[in-house]
Amino acid sequence: MMAKPADARIKGWCPGAWRPMSTGDGLLVRVHPHLGRLTRVQMLALCDAAETFGSGLIELTSRANLQLRGVSEATWPGLMDVLVEHGLVDPDPHTERRPQLLLAPDWQAGDATHEAARLLLARLSEMPELPAKMGFAIDAGDAPVLGDVSADFRIERSASGTLQPRASGGLLVRADGHALGTPVDSIVAAVEHLVRLAHWFVDSGGRESGRMRRHQAPLPAWASESIRPAEAGARLALGEHSRGRVFGLPFGRAPASVLRAAIDPASLAPEASGAVRVMPWRRLLVEGAENGDEAASVAGLLDDNRDPRLSMDVCPGAPHCEQASVETLGLALELAECLSGRVEGPVHVSGCAKGCARRQPAEVCLTGRSGRFDLIVSDRADGAPVATGLSEAEVVELIAKRGVR
Ligand code: SF4
Repeated sequence: MMAKPADARIKGWCPGAWRPMSTGDGLLVRVHPHLGRLTRVQMLALCDAAETFGSGLIELTSRANLQLRGVSEATWPGLMDVLVEHGLVDPDPHTERRPQLLLAPDWQAGDATHEAARLLLARLSEMPELPAKMGFAIDAGDAPVLGDVSADFRIERSASGTLQPRASGGLLVRADGHALGTPVDSIVAAVEHLVRLAHWFVDSGGRESGRMRRHQAPLPAWASESIRPAEAGARLALGEHSRGRVFGLPFGRAPASVLRAAIDPASLAPEASGAVRVMPWRRLLVEGAENGDEAASVAGLLDDNRDPRLSMDVCPGAPHCEQASVETLGLALELAECLSGRVEGPVHVSGCAKGCARRQPAEVCLTGRSGRFDLIVSDRADGAPVATGLSEAEVVELIAKRGVR
């Protein structure tokens, strides 16, 4: 018999499937898709599992993980059986705690990103025990696209003709918080260098800091900071893509039924795999999705890159989180309708001052407190408010009237 998620009530760590987090609406079970891709069969299994064992809501995180909400301690064992059976979770809980790999979503079988990820996965067992939130970005396409995504060490394409001639292979390995990286002459060397950096991180006391960006120790002499990454590329835009179609998830979440519709055979080209690539920007790429006519859009998913629901940062709020005294999603929806042209810059709706959905300042932030909202301008969720004790209607009226610039 499968054990209960015994540590489900411990907070403050990075939840996974074997170590789910207890939230206001039950356990939160996070799945790290292998190479950031799910086959159509896996995606269907995940949708079914979300409805059978949880609330049916699926979220896409800022590090391209999928998470199911509303799972109970009673349904969790059955969920784990399904996830393991479909290769969505490793049967060994220890393996799940290894650092997560985030791949540039446009990778192709055999290219540098895919090869580096394959080699690195094979060497994860050699890694020292790293803090749970650490992760690696494999971003070796012509133009790095994961620069705005949290990762501690990165394999990237180097810029040519910057500080030194482009190394053979044109790859570098870069530590988070450092603008320049170390050139390497092959994919194998890149992986070797990254493994070595992981050991250095631990040996130099990095566990105390938790993440590379916060680690104060100077990089070792063998990890020269001598070459700049290639100019950043754009994140994949919503709509037509050479492999299929990119869809956005409103506020990074969607019911399983909506995601199932996106991979319905009727919306796929003949012979299409219908596999799904997950991305960190609330986007999914459905391989082989039809393009070019009305059938291409899916009700409940976003198609317009300017839709505020793609960019607003909104935490789950009440009743999904025990810390929240307000619902966040209803207000976020109302704001999405009235914001256009009134607010330039990021908008954040937070159930409490902790600000889980966004750590940086936002142009406009609404923070829940004692069942009402505080309005904070150009600051974080815990910043000083310019107005307090607002109802949802008052927030909307205020923003609609004056905007915030
Ligand atoms: S910001 Fe507060 S309410 Fe929102 S998810 Fe985090 S702890 Fe919960």
